[in-house]
Amino acid sequence: RRAEFAAIRSMPPITKDGVRTTLMVNAGLAEDAGALDATGADGIGLFRTEFQFLVSAALPGRDAQYRLYRQVLDAAGDRPVVFRTVDIGGDKALPYLNDVVDEAENPAMGWRALRLSLERSALMKAQARALIEAAEGRTLRVMFPMISEPWEYEEARALFEQQVEWVRARRPGPARIEYGAMLEVPSLAEMLDILLPRINFLSIGTNDLTQFLFAADRADPRLAMRYDWLSPAILRFLRRVAREASAAGVTVRVCGEMGGRPLEAMALVGIGITNFSITPAAIGPVKAMIRSLDAQAIGNKMEALLAKPPRDMRKTLTDWAKRHA
Ligand code: PEP
Ligand code: MG
Repeated sequence: RRAEFAAIRSMPPITKDGVRTTLMVNAGLAEDAGALDATGADGIGLFRTEFQFLVSAALPGRDAQYRLYRQVLDAAGDRPVVFRTVDIGGDKALPYLNDVVDEAENPAMGWRALRLSLERSALMKAQARALIEAAEGRTLRVMFPMISEPWEYEEARALFEQQVEWVRARRPGPARIEYGAMLEVPSLAEMLDILLPRINFLSIGTNDLTQFLFAADRADPRLAMRYDWLSPAILRFLRRVAREASAAGVTVRVCGEMGGRPLEAMALVGIGITNFSITPAAIGPVKAMIRSLDAQAIGNKMEALLAKPPRDMRKTLTDWAKRHA
């Protein structure tokens, strides 16, 4: 099917009934930006800035960060890049930050990501400066990981805005800044009415979200069969979030691995989620699925299935996909 994916490389990910979806890639290294041209993706929907920290022998300085961000933005050209501030700590231990070594019993639920960044504000400030300066004259898109409550977002954003002011007092700074929140801790879903008016976009990290929703370690293979991304609980949860965000006029994107699987992506389109950021290798298969899909039909199907969920959602959707897509 490689030839088939190559043939649609430059075609838009649009459904048969005309719904334009966006397919972006997840990335983390400067080289990954090459995936944009290789796949024909719409942009980088998740740039995992912690990769640079993880592959460095010492804490990357502001200049090194600036150079990386600049390189990625240059490579992306007109296509958007969404930078996620560092998600380190927990199991992503850094030897040079010696108190960020994994000693927690539950590292995934531990002192990581924004929790760490807000307390280590020097680290966050340096990153903010590097991003703001790298995006000079362009749109800077930045999002914060592992937000449990809106105040964490507000603190992170305030810290960023201080740095923006500092930079703009001296240089032009970015032409525009869009702030986003990652929804990967279920508690945040209860606070969307407070959060949504304050953000430009919402990015759902389904890897972490599902492990927390199901209390099932995403890294433990013994649990892999115990829950399913197509389970009605996950799909209902995501549908609720998508509806609230859409009513507030806020763009929602799924950036977890779930969106990179054609059947899962089909179900997501059916619950109203049309923006994806996925692993580059998944762009072809997901685009092929989308181009063969009737969004209205899968929308109706998902409504019916989620109202009265079948025992085996995966099988039901697989059968439907064979007949329709
Ligand atoms: C996620 O949790 O779904 C996500 C995109 O972030 P990461 O996989 O880097 O934790
Ligand atoms: Mg995550």
